[in-house]
Amino acid sequence: MRADEIFARARDRATLTREEAYWLWEEAPLERLAAVADEVRRAVVPDPKVVTWQIDRNVNITNVCISGCKFCNFHCKPHEVEREFITSIEEYRPKIERMLELGGDQLLLQGGLHPRLGVEFYEELFRELKHFYPQVRLHALGAPEVAHLAKVSGVTTRQALERLVAAGLDSLPGAGAEILVERVRKSISPAKPSVEQWLEVMHEAHLMNLPTSATMMYGHIETPRERIDHLLTIRDLQARCPEGNWGFVAFIPWIFRSTGTRLEREGVESHFSPLEYVRVIAVSRLILNNIRNIQSSWLTVGKPTAQLTLHSGSNDMGSIMIEENVVSSAGAHNSFDAEGIQKAIREAGFEPRLRDQLYRERVYSGSKA
Ligand code: SF4
Repeated sequence: MRADEIFARARDRATLTREEAYWLWEEAPLERLAAVADEVRRAVVPDPKVVTWQIDRNVNITNVCISGCKFCNFHCKPHEVEREFITSIEEYRPKIERMLELGGDQLLLQGGLHPRLGVEFYEELFRELKHFYPQVRLHALGAPEVAHLAKVSGVTTRQALERLVAAGLDSLPGAGAEILVERVRKSISPAKPSVEQWLEVMHEAHLMNLPTSATMMYGHIETPRERIDHLLTIRDLQARCPEGNWGFVAFIPWIFRSTGTRLEREGVESHFSPLEYVRVIAVSRLILNNIRNIQSSWLTVGKPTAQLTLHSGSNDMGSIMIEENVVSSAGAHNSFDAEGIQKAIREAGFEPRLRDQLYRERVYSGSKA
C-alpha cells in the first residue's frame, strides 16, 4: 500500500522523492503524519524529552531598503527622512545591556538593503560590537543582505562573507527565503536578490563552515506544491554541504501576516489554520531528513499551536525574541518571557532547556533585571 511504503521510508529518514513529498502534503492523513514525524523527531534529537529555547535580542540595523517586498511593513525608502534610521553604537549599548540582564547571549541583527551601506560599514559595526561585548554572538544579516552589500562594495559574496566573519559574524540567519521559487519571488519581492543568489550565499557559507539556518514564509501567493518545492530546495542545498560542516542547523517555517501590507491591499490576506501549521511542521520534519532541528514559530502561530507542533516533529521553541519589529508590524502580537516559554514547554509535556545558536546547552540562572 502506497501510504505504508511512504511512511516507512519517511520513518527510515530516506530521501523522499518529489512525488512522495507532494503526497505527504496533499493526501497523508494528518494524525498518522504527525505521529510519524514525532517518531522521527524522537529518534533524531539527542534527548527526546527536551524542547530547547533561546534568549536573544533583535536589533534592526537600518530600516532603509530598496527591495520594497510587498509583505513588509517595516522598511522605508531611502530619503524618507521622517522614518529612516541607522542604529548607532550608542543605541545598541543599552539594548545589549538589557539583553545580558535577561540572560541572553546573542544579537539577531537584521535590516534592509540600504543603497549606501557596503561591507565596510558592517565590518566596522561588528568589530565595534565585539570590542565592547566579546561574549555576545552575532547572528546577523540574511542571504539577500549579504548579496546586496557585496554588490554595493563590488566584491564577491565569498569575499564579503570572509570579511564579515573576520569582523565578528558568528552565524547567518535564514531570513529572506520566503518561498524559494522564482515565480513567487518575482511577484512578492521583485527587487530582492534572486532565489539563485540566496542559494549561492548559503552555499558559500556552508563551504566556509559558517553556521546557518533556513526559513519558510508561507500562506501568501504560493501554491501548496511550491511550499514542498521550497522544502526540497533547502534539503538539496543541505545535501551539498561538506560533511562535518554546520550547514543549516535549524529550519523555521512561519506564516505570512497580511495586516497593512501591500499584498493585503492587492487582495492577498493571511488565513491561519493551526492544523495546517501542524502539517507544515510534520512534512518539514520528514522531508528535511538532513536537518536536525525543526523550530516552531510561536511568534506567528501563538502558544497553543506551537505546543501542538512539539508533538508533530518540532523540537525547539526558538527565542523569546526581545524586540521583534518586522513580523509584529504585520499583525503578529504574541509574546513570551523566559518564564512563559518554559511554562509553555512544560505544559506540552517536555523539559525546557536553554540553548545557544548551535543548540549547545546553556544554564539558565534567571533574569537579573
Ligand atoms: S523584507 Fe527585508 S528586504 Fe524586503 S523590504 Fe523588508 S527589509 Fe527590505
